[in-house]
Amino acid sequence: MPKVYNWQLGREMEYPYEGRRSTRQFAAVFNINRCIACQTCTMACKSTWTYSKGQEAMWWNNVETKPYGGYPQHWDIKTLELLGDQPGWDVARADNQKPYGVYQGETLFEAVKTRTTASGQQALGYLPEAKEWRSPNFYEDTAYSTIASKEGRMGDGTKLPEHKAWFFYLQRICNHCTYPACLAACPRGAIYKRPEDGIVLIDQSQCRGYRKCVEQCPYKKPMFNPETRISEKCIACYPRVEGTDPLTEGEPMVTRCISACVGKIRLQGWIDDPESPIYYLVRVAKVALPLYPQFGTEPNVYYIPPRWAPRGYLRQMFGPGVDQAINTYGKPDHELLSVLQLFGATQKLVYSYKVEEDEVIGYGQKKQEVVRVPIEDPVIVRSEKHFNVT
Ligand code: SF4
Ligand code: SF4
Repeated sequence: MPKVYNWQLGREMEYPYEGRRSTRQFAAVFNINRCIACQTCTMACKSTWTYSKGQEAMWWNNVETKPYGGYPQHWDIKTLELLGDQPGWDVARADNQKPYGVYQGETLFEAVKTRTTASGQQALGYLPEAKEWRSPNFYEDTAYSTIASKEGRMGDGTKLPEHKAWFFYLQRICNHCTYPACLAACPRGAIYKRPEDGIVLIDQSQCRGYRKCVEQCPYKKPMFNPETRISEKCIACYPRVEGTDPLTEGEPMVTRCISACVGKIRLQGWIDDPESPIYYLVRVAKVALPLYPQFGTEPNVYYIPPRWAPRGYLRQMFGPGVDQAINTYGKPDHELLSVLQLFGATQKLVYSYKVEEDEVIGYGQKKQEVVRVPIEDPVIVRSEKHFNVT
């Protein structure tokens, strides 16, 4: 098996396909702390791409409630159980190139070679049953009770205590992984990763519906269409990203789910461009983390973890960067506060930004200004005559 470098693991790993980084890599950051589970993103995607016959149970974007919820049900627990107990990260070896240290366990690509039950697979995985896709909101707003944190309450600044009973919303689209398990799994070579933007697509004319991508994508984001009998998945709204959608007037725009987000929790950009606000959030401020990096696909959707959930749960989900991410998010410096204001501020794709004293300016592909946002909201003191007192 060829070796590829996975920066999220801080080491080389085996990947059963010619690993090639794209010129640019599509990426997004979702701020879990701000999501209100209104499902506007879900419906924006549904009404754009999956409203046809055979797509009734298909939600390329979904928002599920953790710890119980999942679409398909228990997708992450089942995959974690297949992978088994793993040693985790050597955090002492963390540096700028290996921000989380070095992962010492097996990825899904490496584990598949040692599991007799996984014969013929390229990555350890399972095929969900039809009933597991039926209820995308099963366990919505169901809290999990846990014993009090040993650390006790953290009273200063904007820090929140870990709650004894908790849940949070996890917003999910295809991660357009750098090393996609779906792509490696497809015996027809029908899945490809675009060199110009890293978006992962299924060639509908090549797919024969073997469902190997559904089985081996750990995030369960390819979905089988029983009407057409081929698989489909999130396409990262590529006509908008290319600027070829008639609505975009030639300007690269963010995806439908990202532009429609009511809570302004989403920001899109490029993970490998040091000028992109996404690069800043993930690689510089280290406030946004990959989802289950231990799976080994190098996913490109990153999350600012929720401040109120137990750290142990968050670490198994987002890796060892959780504590630093939450601390940094709780006390943002001027640049981080500025970049956080770019979330949901424009439908145009922000390629770079400039922080000024009071404003942050976002620039588009041709370095033109596409958005200008105040960094701190003005404090307006209402006059006494508006007080609601009798
Ligand atoms: S639109 Fe935004 S706030 Fe609403 S559910 Fe989706 S991600 Fe959360
Ligand atoms: S999330 Fe799944 S479907 Fe999307 S690129 Fe990664 S492996 Fe493929």
